[in-house]
This record gives sequence, C-alpha cells and structure tokens, in this order.
Amino acid sequence: MEGKTHIVGGLAAGALYLNLGGTVGHEALFFGSLALGALIPDIDHTGSSIGRRVPLIDNIVSTVFGHRSFTHSLLFLVLAFFLFQQTSLPKEFETGILLGMFSHMILDMLTKQGIKFLWPLKINIGIPGGIRTGGTIEQGFFTVLIVYLCYVGYQIYL
Ligand SMILES: [Zn+2]
Repeated sequence: MEGKTHIVGGLAAGALYLNLGGTVGHEALFFGSLALGALIPDIDHTGSSIGRRVPLIDNIVSTVFGHRSFTHSLLFLVLAFFLFQQTSLPKEFETGILLGMFSHMILDMLTKQGIKFLWPLKINIGIPGGIRTGGTIEQGFFTVLIVYLCYVGYQIYL
C-alpha cells in the first residue's frame, strides 16, 4: 500500500485503541508516533517515503532481508518491544510506534503480494486477489479510513 494509506491506517489504529478504552497521556505525541511507526516497515522498500528520506538504509535492508520480510514480521515487532523496554522513552511514543508498525503489517496482509509475517519462515501471508497498491480499492479504503478518523475525532472531542 502507499505511504499515505499506511499513515491514515496507523492513525485509525490509534483512534480504535482510544475508542476501545485505551488511554494515553499526550495525544499529539501518540498520533505522531503512530504515523512514524506506520512508515517504518517500508524501510526495506527502495523508493518508499521513508526509504527516500534515509539514504542507503532502504538499499541495505532490502538487499539483506528482501522486501516485506524482516521489517514486516512478528519478530521485528517483538524486537522493537524489547528494545523499548531497555529505554525510558514516553509510553505514548512506544505504544504509537508499535501500534503503527502493526497496523502497517495488517494493511499489507490485505494485499495480493502479502508479507512474510512469520519471517524467517518463508510463508507469504496475503489475500489472493487482494488489494493492489495504488489501485481503486486502495483509494476507496483510504477514504473509509478518513471517514472513520473524522467520526472518532468527532466522538472524542465534541
Ligand atoms: Zn509495507
């Protein structure tokens, strides 16, 4: 999926988290972290929004692990989680990054290409006939997420 769909998907995951009763102290930091976390898995993607901003990283990760494998895996999430345990970063930052990355993986599972969520196992998890990146269905999906965000924003703040 495109970077913008991942950002909106990450924000929607955060909205759902708050909707289900999750609490965060600093909402702006939480939503900023969600957007950032939602882009991180695609550092393995040469030409992704985040890959373009961080020179070489995309090429290195892509060459070493291949696309949609390590940075799109449960292992990557678990490692990030344990890494955060070693730091004293704000809780809303950690939750935002992890939830953003997880939402990215869920969205990529809805695509035809799928992801290797159980990497290093080479099993591809995706939907045959799933969403094509940049296609009409993705655009529709993007719109639905925006509507959901507006709805939750309305519920929370008005
Ligand atoms: Zn991806």
